Amino acid sequence: MQVFKFGGASIKDVTGVKNLVAVLNKTGYKDTLVVVSAMGKTTNALELVVKNYFDRSNQLQSSIQDVFKFHNAILLDLFDNEKHEVFKKVSTLFNDLKVFLDRNKSPDYNFVYDQVIGFGELVSTTIISEYLNEVNIKNHFLDVREFIKTDDYYRSAKVDWEETQKRITTNFNRTQLNITQGFLGSDSNNFTTTLGREGSDYTAAIFAYCLNAQSVTIWKDVPGILNADPRYFENAQLLHRISYREAIELAFYGASVIHPKTLQPLQRKEITLFVKSFLNPEGKGTKVCKEAGLDPQIPCFIVKKNQVLISLSSLDFSYIVEENISEIFKLLHLYKMKVDVIQNSAISFSVCVDNMYQNLDSLLQHLKAKFKVTCTEDVSLYTIRHYTETAKTQMERDKKILLKQLTQETMQLVTK
Ligand code: ASP
Ligand code: MG
Repeated sequence: MQVFKFGGASIKDVTGVKNLVAVLNKTGYKDTLVVVSAMGKTTNALELVVKNYFDRSNQLQSSIQDVFKFHNAILLDLFDNEKHEVFKKVSTLFNDLKVFLDRNKSPDYNFVYDQVIGFGELVSTTIISEYLNEVNIKNHFLDVREFIKTDDYYRSAKVDWEETQKRITTNFNRTQLNITQGFLGSDSNNFTTTLGREGSDYTAAIFAYCLNAQSVTIWKDVPGILNADPRYFENAQLLHRISYREAIELAFYGASVIHPKTLQPLQRKEITLFVKSFLNPEGKGTKVCKEAGLDPQIPCFIVKKNQVLISLSSLDFSYIVEENISEIFKLLHLYKMKVDVIQNSAISFSVCVDNMYQNLDSLLQHLKAKFKVTCTEDVSLYTIRHYTETAKTQMERDKKILLKQLTQETMQLVTK
């Protein structure tokens, strides 16, 4: 059993969808589950729909229409016959979306977000499943929400492993090519939930775990896992093999190539992860497995933009000790801040966070009651794993450094 995951970039247009077919034909698709994200930038476009809905913007309908038109253009290109059933299926999905928004009474942004955002994956899998049938790759369309059960922590739902395992064991038919949505699940009331942005990799890992698959392959627009994000760094190099542990570390520091939660289930069952280019399916890509170390052994560079640096000191020059620190962390947890780096001295405490849920103002208000607070928004966090002197100097050059931290293997810089 193998699990394939195709991300949004790999199926952003007709060429992408046709290329997915080419990849399946080249690699074979016996005992395969294909997990698919929303096409191109659809998730962002649907985020705009949610925003327009809550802003009561008069752009709401046109923003939905934009998403529809994008998919319809792809359909018109893929299917000659406009009477093909797929056109109706896709229109029905968009209609369901409009009906949901018309009838919704919930003021909960995160709940509404998940109900709306999920349509991206539902539409992409509908199109791809139908197209595969059209080109004689018979496949079975699965609604992932019947398999992956979660809690109701919308936008970052936690998987109910027991229930998910049970459903996959009883209802998943391995003897056919299956295609399903990444990123989605459902709660105990059967409302759609999402696993966090870029969560489709994680979906592939959940299935692989529950099915005891041999491998997961993530098909990307890069040759594999690189030692640096080519959008921000020159001369990025391909990592041929890396261990789970190394990959987990890289993902933790923000290497965007793999969703951080993806690796743990794979590591637990020692399921091999391949990251390969969908443009060169025969290329070796990167292999993530148990005892691979890091090959080649070179520094890895990671950048996270748009972070927030918060520095706290006590109002009366008293020490910042366990009690204050635990209180600070309770608040960070309460306001759902993702903590990237922490650093403390006797009377000060700095933390670099990702303000994913836009709760910064409330958090600061709360902190200001107890501490002297300085906050710098829009900072960048640079991490080098396995730094060398050259890498360090290169990284520090021309930057205004607000915080620096060195451990044996890792250097981190917060810069403005
Ligand atoms: N479509 C979702 C996103 O863009 C999930 C994914 O791509 O993995 O975040
Ligand atoms: Mg995506």
